[in-house]
Amino acid sequence: MHQARTIAAAGSNFTVYFSTLYNGTMRPYGKFHIPYQRIRLLTRMALMIRSSAIHAAGCYTTSRIRKGSRVAEYTGHPMTKEEADKRYENSLVTYLFGLGDGSMVIDGHSMTMFVNHSCDSNCETEEIDGRVFITAIRDIKAGEEITYDYCLYDGGDDDANCNCGSISCRRTMYSAKELKSRKKNARLAGKKSAERSKRASKR
Ligand SMILES: [Zn+2]
Repeated sequence: MHQARTIAAAGSNFTVYFSTLYNGTMRPYGKFHIPYQRIRLLTRMALMIRSSAIHAAGCYTTSRIRKGSRVAEYTGHPMTKEEADKRYENSLVTYLFGLGDGSMVIDGHSMTMFVNHSCDSNCETEEIDGRVFITAIRDIKAGEEITYDYCLYDGGDDDANCNCGSISCRRTMYSAKELKSRKKNARLAGKKSAERSKRASKR
């Protein structure tokens, strides 16, 4: 778990390391003359994983986040959709984030893979040059769970039911577009099977 922390202090110069909310990785933030209290403040900027009422584990912020701020980057191994389908053929759980036209995906491998879906989310995702960022769409209080709308579009026979508990819950994590096409496909399949049974009864 990427917990923000202060690593080294030399004289009055502190080398401050903290996991930036931006990409969740530890990196040196330079040498500062900063009072200890200020470091405490900096190091409180972090995300943490703990159990969630929505689903299993969730990602929480330990500090307040302003609307419009970048919260984290969805990082992991990029791979083709075919590669991912092959690799996770028998897996019930995957953390694949589709890029562009969907032919490439990011196989989530950081804290952001624990961010749960909500139909009334406090964040949204945006893709910029093949990278995916999670951005706050409203002010988020310290301690709140970070969520975004998964807008699932691929999942085979999986119902992908939603348990987010919001008033506006649509009971599924599929996008409105995907639901429409699934309904259409189900209608077509129904018609085809009706035609088949008609043909069968004529015989
Ligand atoms: Zn929901």
